[in-house]
Amino acid sequence: MPVLADFHLHSHHSGDSGAPMEAQVRAGLERGLSALCFTEHLDMDWPYENTPDLAPGTFDLDMEAYRSEFRALKEAFRDRISLSFGVELGLQPHLGEALSAFVKANPDLDFVLGSTHLSRRMDPYYPCFFEGLDKKEALRTYFRDSLESLRAFHDIDSYAHMDYVVRYGPGRDSDYRWEDFREEIEAILSFLLSRGIALEVNTAALGKGCRDMNPCRGILERYYEMGGRRITIGSDAHAPGNVAGHFEEACGSLKAVGFQGYLTFSGRKETFRSFQIST
Ligand SMILES: [Zn+2]
Ligand SMILES: [Zn+2]
Repeated sequence: MPVLADFHLHSHHSGDSGAPMEAQVRAGLERGLSALCFTEHLDMDWPYENTPDLAPGTFDLDMEAYRSEFRALKEAFRDRISLSFGVELGLQPHLGEALSAFVKANPDLDFVLGSTHLSRRMDPYYPCFFEGLDKKEALRTYFRDSLESLRAFHDIDSYAHMDYVVRYGPGRDSDYRWEDFREEIEAILSFLLSRGIALEVNTAALGKGCRDMNPCRGILERYYEMGGRRITIGSDAHAPGNVAGHFEEACGSLKAVGFQGYLTFSGRKETFRSFQIST
């Protein structure tokens, strides 16, 4: 396995996963990982009125329950795998203060991932996001809103699944060309580079019938050209079967672009790890 750390995964502490934490850790060990970071969902002020299948509170996070189970697990597995305590924060333009307060109140976090799950108070996972808009305009709006949300709050270590929006909508990513949104996407990449925020390579879409990971290969090439070298890698597994999913494929693409390794985090400090030589 060329990548030995999965820095994006969920357990039952996330409202959309039922996976026991220990099962996720054991899956990581089976895949040969040496490090793994839980990044449980916290999406403050989620618009439940636009996601009727979700019970109110689904994307709240009980930090005390999460912390206490995590600590016990870290201790139990300390000789076998390095476990990190992370969170996936849902960004929205009006949440700057609330998210800052959350991060300050939780100084024991190892890793903070930022995500844009919402644009115009809608999740692209639901068809209503695309209703009444040309698909390109819907995508463009998502990228513009992503930058606005990042400007409002950016005390994050890595920015997750940057073109997540293309996993959904009519035709999914089959007719997506990142160059159609070059201006918006380059503005996001510049912002991340200027603030020292890493770019996440998220492999989940490869298991969901999409052509490419998030962000797509073209964006990764552009990021590299712009001087970007700092990436984190995550499967976004919500179940044990997906832990470290499609990492070999992702690593092949990343090496072809020029990347030589990836980052892991502990106490919000990064460590660079080279890709393993496959044997
Ligand atoms: Zn996410
Ligand atoms: Zn996630």
